[in-house]
Amino acid sequence: MIDDATKEIVRKRANFLCEYCHSPERISTTRFTVDHLIPKSIGGAAEINNLALACRRCNERRYNFVAGYDSETQAIVPLFNPRQQIWSEHFLWSADGRTIIGITPIGRATCKRLDMNDERYPEDDSIQSARGFWFQAGLHPPSDDPRKS
Ligand SMILES: [Zn+2]
Repeated sequence: MIDDATKEIVRKRANFLCEYCHSPERISTTRFTVDHLIPKSIGGAAEINNLALACRRCNERRYNFVAGYDSETQAIVPLFNPRQQIWSEHFLWSADGRTIIGITPIGRATCKRLDMNDERYPEDDSIQSARGFWFQAGLHPPSDDPRKS
């Protein structure tokens, strides 16, 4: 069980962004969840360095997975770990702000496992159209990596 004080630390540390897809919590219809980097089911603790802020879609899609498949190198690699890695070293935004592009095996495998661009169901590109509106409103993409600020 994660207490409210810990949740607040996690939210502030993340600059109120999902630490995977960088969606802003402030314009989301629901509060983000606290994700265990090492899942509880395999012994991960509710300890601050094992926690990350995640939007509901990323949290659900990550589920208990800790690794993913990179189709470019055919390697099974660990998923992005926001406590150990810097987002901008693994991901880029497309120029129109609608899609996240994985630029490393970890970035590509995480994009795919978390379906960060809704490519699994292209007819339902809800995350991409939402990002298009955020972009037009000047709310997106986030200008800095939380780790660098
Ligand atoms: Zn997310």
